Amino acid sequence: MNSEIVLEACQLKKSYHKDRIEVPVLRGVNLQVQRGLITSLVGRSGSGKSTLMHLLAALDYPDDGQIHFAGERIDNASRSRRDAYRNQNLGIIFQFYHLLPELTAMENVLAPLMISQSVLHFFNHRKAAKRRAEEMLDRVGLLHRATHKPSEMSGGEMQRAAIARSLMANPSLLLADEPTGNLDTDTGQEILSLLNTFNQDDGLTILMITHDDAIAKNSDTCYRMQDGELNSETAKLQVA
Ligand code: ADP
Ligand code: MG
Repeated sequence: MNSEIVLEACQLKKSYHKDRIEVPVLRGVNLQVQRGLITSLVGRSGSGKSTLMHLLAALDYPDDGQIHFAGERIDNASRSRRDAYRNQNLGIIFQFYHLLPELTAMENVLAPLMISQSVLHFFNHRKAAKRRAEEMLDRVGLLHRATHKPSEMSGGEMQRAAIARSLMANPSLLLADEPTGNLDTDTGQEILSLLNTFNQDDGLTILMITHDDAIAKNSDTCYRMQDGELNSETAKLQVA
């Protein structure tokens, strides 16, 4: 098996401050994500999973500790380097879809490109961008909903749109924050098998965040967040 570590966190610490009181959330988190695998990160609501994901995505800074991607230190890199790291390597699915309500599924999938590129560049490449968006909507089974807005879609369809959007730029690593958290069991299973397909067919590395042990057990590797620390577990052995 290829055991290359693509993303690594070492002794990450993060506290929030409320009324001058320090609230420690991450107390020294260690994590290794292997290329090509599905790694899950399981923990109760409020245990710090989303906080950790934001640090790993370079959307926020740790108080202490280090993050490396493909051997490069990211946590203390320049803002532009952190942006480039995120844009070039990561797909991100946020906990509550984060779709723009005024835009159709197709426009939502295109939105990150429209924002990150100059108007001229986007205009010149719009046909290729639209083809890519159609391909992604097709792969997530949503091409027939391309002109629908989020309010006209089911939860599962919104999550499919969020997945298509996150994979537009062909990232190597997907960070998925509770991708099944708002869905019923059957719809959640469909989303999981869709993510599995991208892992199997495209070699997409996935870090899957969940509060559900049953979902975590289907991954290749599992970490459990507890008391601000992460403990490694063998996913396939865990849970009845
Ligand atoms: P999870 O994703 O596991 O549910 P979070 O990372 O969202 O947990 O939150 C961890 C803890 O940090 C919670 O107690 C939450 O209230 C607190 N927290 C999260 N974000 C902030 C913030 N921006 N300011 C203050 N406290 C926060
Ligand atoms: Mg969360």
